[in-house]
Amino acid sequence: MRIVVPAGGIGGARFLRGLRAALGTGAPETEGRTTDSSITVIGNTGDDITLFGLRICPDLDTVMYTLGEGIDEERGWGRADESFTVKEELAAYGMKPTWFGLGDRDTATHIVRSQMLAAGFPLSAVTEALCDRWRPGVRLLPMTDDQVETHVVVNEDGRRRAIHFQEWWIRYRAALPAEQIVGVGADTAKPAPGVLEAIAEADLVLLPPSNPVVSVGSILNIPGIRDAMAAKTVVGVSPIIGGAPVRGMADACLSAIGVETDAGAVAAHLGADLLDGWLVDEADAGTEVEGIEVRSRPLYMSDPAATEAIARAALDLAVELAGREGDGA
Ligand code: GDP
Ligand code: CA
Repeated sequence: MRIVVPAGGIGGARFLRGLRAALGTGAPETEGRTTDSSITVIGNTGDDITLFGLRICPDLDTVMYTLGEGIDEERGWGRADESFTVKEELAAYGMKPTWFGLGDRDTATHIVRSQMLAAGFPLSAVTEALCDRWRPGVRLLPMTDDQVETHVVVNEDGRRRAIHFQEWWIRYRAALPAEQIVGVGADTAKPAPGVLEAIAEADLVLLPPSNPVVSVGSILNIPGIRDAMAAKTVVGVSPIIGGAPVRGMADACLSAIGVETDAGAVAAHLGADLLDGWLVDEADAGTEVEGIEVRSRPLYMSDPAATEAIARAALDLAVELAGREGDGA
């Protein structure tokens, strides 16, 4: 079975670990065993930023480190056993910004990436090279090789300005009122090589509980990707439980685009043309969305077993709905 997953950072990466377990495919401990399932991840690059001359791709790295067992499990991002000496030394020089969590180990990844990009390799080739070390057990593709960056138009007491998503998210903890979220460069970007092919060849598309605006939304905004996915059986897992994001500040992103922080509202926003099925938490049982098959079950990715069960439920629903389409129903 071929599965495509458009993913952001923490929510996407954790779900992917569960999906890999549910399929028994590609985990480092199963390497070498043959399996007839494969997972292609289309990673969000809208969070990417250049700092101190380094190109940083937070969501690609979170997926790569999480699946490659290099992630800091507590924080959910960055490397395990990380130190922040380079960050402190840069601050001592008065270098700005100081709000970005640049770890020492992580910096090596950014140096490799920046050097390869400067040598002319596209981001997709760079990501493949980085994955040679981490062996994530999935094929990880950036959504695009073109530079697309999410910017946020904020309004501070009547003063409007656009800042990079990372500055809004990390420095201001998404607390500055946002009027608009813009994927700068998205409208002219092309899907990275392999992205449309992977979707076309996929049996199923699963949307992990990633941020629906700045992760999944950014990916769907790359021309061609949404249409290609809409032609497939698509099942999503709600990142909103009981009217709140489970972790992070996705509610601030939803408010900025005028969507209620509610599992059903997010499904309706993603659209019945795209989504065939939607898993909501038991707390949201009874949610109905026109044109979408909604099922409820526990959706907290609290440990590996719970996360695997969520992935299995998404798979089962997708297989069921794909079968119905196959029946001509
Ligand atoms: P980011 O790029 O690191 O912000 O990560 P993602 O975009 O992949 O995922 C962020 C989303 O994951 C947030 O909106 C959270 O609500 C959601 N999330 C995190 N943990 C859980 C969980 O245990 N269950 C569910 N259903 N959603 C979760
Ligand atoms: Ca992200």
